[in-house]
Amino acid sequence: MRLPGRYDGVARPIVTYGSNPVLHRSCAPVTEFDRELRHLVLDMFASMEAADGVGLAANQIGVDARIFVIDCPDAEGEDVVGYVVNPTLTILDPADGEPAEEVTEEGCLSVPGPYAELPRAFRARVDGVDVHGGPVRIEATGMAARCLQHEVDHLNGTVYVDLLPEEHRERLLAEAAGPGGDLPA
Ligand SMILES: [Zn+2]
Repeated sequence: MRLPGRYDGVARPIVTYGSNPVLHRSCAPVTEFDRELRHLVLDMFASMEAADGVGLAANQIGVDARIFVIDCPDAEGEDVVGYVVNPTLTILDPADGEPAEEVTEEGCLSVPGPYAELPRAFRARVDGVDVHGGPVRIEATGMAARCLQHEVDHLNGTVYVDLLPEEHRERLLAEAAGPGGDLPA
């Protein structure tokens, strides 16, 4: 799952909400498993790291391709690190003692600054392939499960603020664009 030297890529600028249509439409499935794809994944890890994010979808750096990267703690505090090409999200039933959903604060590098409380499934799984086309799977809980849902939403053209009531969304977008809201936390 882990790429050796996964932070050897080059950080690219983050696409912010409303600045590029690629962020607001469903991304294209990856069909070429070539050197360019491997470079893109490395650049995505580098971009996530440079922006101090816990996850990043390809369209957040302007690339129309169904790929995300994640480096995010789960409910136990264990870091979930990896990437998935052509992911499919499955919401899982909670294990004994786990909640079905969790409402916690969520933010996004493409809406820099604000956070909002949003319900998400506590446990989720993503199936897809690696840069060679071989099967990969990430199952996660807590914040990492939230991240999986957030990133697959991105690849379907949905930014988390799109899931909020319009008035709330507009307030957050104004905050992101406003003074002091122009840099990711
Ligand atoms: Zn995001």
